[in-house]
Amino acid sequence: MSLLLTGIGVSRGIVIGQAHVADGEPMEILEYNLPRAEIGSEVERFHQARESAKAQLQNVRKQIPTDAPAEIGAFIDTHLLMLDDEALSEAVARIIRQEQCNAEWALQAQRDELVAVFDQMEDPYLRTRRDDVDHVVSRVQRLLMRGDDIWDEEKSRAGAYPILVAEDVSPADVVLMQSRGIRALITESGGPLSHTSILARSLGIPAVVGLHRARQLLRDGESLIIDGLKGAVFANPGEREVAYYRHKRRELFKHVRELKGLRGEPACTLDGTRIQLLANIELPEDLRLFRKTGGDGIGLYRTEFLYMNRPDFPDEEEQYRSYLEILAQADGMPVTIRTLDLGADKRLIGRETGPDDGHNPALGLRGIRYSLSEPGIFLKQLRALLRASADAPLRIMLPLVATTQEVLQAQQMIEVAKQSLDARGQDYDPAIPVGAMIEVPSAALTAHQIARHVDFLSIGTNDLIQYTLAIDRVDDHVNYLYDPVHPSVLKLISTTLQAGRRAGIPVSMCGEMAGDPQYTRLLLGLGLRDFSMHPSTLLEVKRVITRTDLKELGGRTRGFLRNTDPDRAPDLLRRLNALH
Ligand code: PEP
Ligand code: MG
Repeated sequence: MSLLLTGIGVSRGIVIGQAHVADGEPMEILEYNLPRAEIGSEVERFHQARESAKAQLQNVRKQIPTDAPAEIGAFIDTHLLMLDDEALSEAVARIIRQEQCNAEWALQAQRDELVAVFDQMEDPYLRTRRDDVDHVVSRVQRLLMRGDDIWDEEKSRAGAYPILVAEDVSPADVVLMQSRGIRALITESGGPLSHTSILARSLGIPAVVGLHRARQLLRDGESLIIDGLKGAVFANPGEREVAYYRHKRRELFKHVRELKGLRGEPACTLDGTRIQLLANIELPEDLRLFRKTGGDGIGLYRTEFLYMNRPDFPDEEEQYRSYLEILAQADGMPVTIRTLDLGADKRLIGRETGPDDGHNPALGLRGIRYSLSEPGIFLKQLRALLRASADAPLRIMLPLVATTQEVLQAQQMIEVAKQSLDARGQDYDPAIPVGAMIEVPSAALTAHQIARHVDFLSIGTNDLIQYTLAIDRVDDHVNYLYDPVHPSVLKLISTTLQAGRRAGIPVSMCGEMAGDPQYTRLLLGLGLRDFSMHPSTLLEVKRVITRTDLKELGGRTRGFLRNTDPDRAPDLLRRLNALH
């Protein structure tokens, strides 16, 4: 009987083959006490295992394919550094001595401490860094207990069992997979932002993660189909399912070839209108992907990353250098850098500085409100941005604007920052464009006012939808209410686009909606011409654009705007997307 399981699809692709269930038995970490006389040799045993783990990783590093993306080496280096870090070397030796316990247990105790800190973090990227701690710790524990790594070499080398099913897989193991005959991956833990998932995507290994109890539900050697886009795993599929997925695989190859062919092409509609496709950048990995997929510039650079995961705020010089680096990577293309958007979902954990959570952080001191309340921090960032604008096209963008007053205050602060650079004799672009994000309903409804005081607008749909429909964007319980095509949301988007047209300033969109190809035609119909999105979705959106005739969209989009019934929206969208 066939069985369908679903996890989180993190790396696209379809593979049909046998399961290679790795390490079915989880390692049981026992605690036992040692006589005082044996403590010295236990510490020595721990350090030897740590050295062997380093040797394993150095060996992996040598096996990275020469054409592999640069981040792969960086991930392995991170684990090598962690093995030498005090927290995973001397601190563990101290626990062995103090508790007079075995090395495996001491390592586990230290792991629990470190992981507890990461677990408190709200930021999903930083939270996934706990996986790195887990990977490094279990590599050393495995060496202490079993003296091996996870590979069942004979089976995987033969290539007969190409779908690895494991509790978790470290980035280092992902690097080795292809050379060991593994072509797809299923793990019980992990999320889309883990290094393992990022690497699987970079190396083109289809992967489904977060499939709980996968090792219990799937048998070694069993036939499987894995769909890394949908997160679906078919166990023991019938002939019809296999035929269907073979067909889907052929279609996917065709689709990927088509997308690759679009890389160097301009994003033009069938009637010849040029659409701007810009990238949203948050992490260094995103920049590398942007350079690969191409685009017309950076439409949103989120500066929060520089402020997180550290005890202090970056000074002006550090910020300046980091902005210069982004501009260099953009190679002359325009770059829009957003000023600090701390607060609510972007919190700094365990720090004195930064916005207070308050009773209701999403409605509290966040975004531009926080920057205006901390002139010292804001001015430092503005000076760094202005200095970086001296030789490259940079635009400043203000987050979470709710009133025109906030824009005017921010403009005054920019003037003050310019004056201090004048006094220092430092260069900047005196006409640097300043824009406002429209992500609060009050700002959308008064966008015509705000537009009079800025050079551009950018619609942040992630927050705009949250505030319009009163649903916390990171609360899974109300996720089902998150509706980008709700009539109220579409009205606010349309009002903002109209305000921009009347004021003669460009309006872009940088929320997730802009990168979802199912909304591309609707947004084009509403008049959006500048789309900013994560680089991974850029070619998909470009593909829709190149198949759309703007002249055909008018009537259907007007129908959308007239509609007041949220339940009709999916059907209207389907019909709009079915146009040829
Ligand atoms: C948005 O709110 O749509 C946006 C782009 O900003 P962020 O997701 O960083 O809040
Ligand atoms: Mg936002």
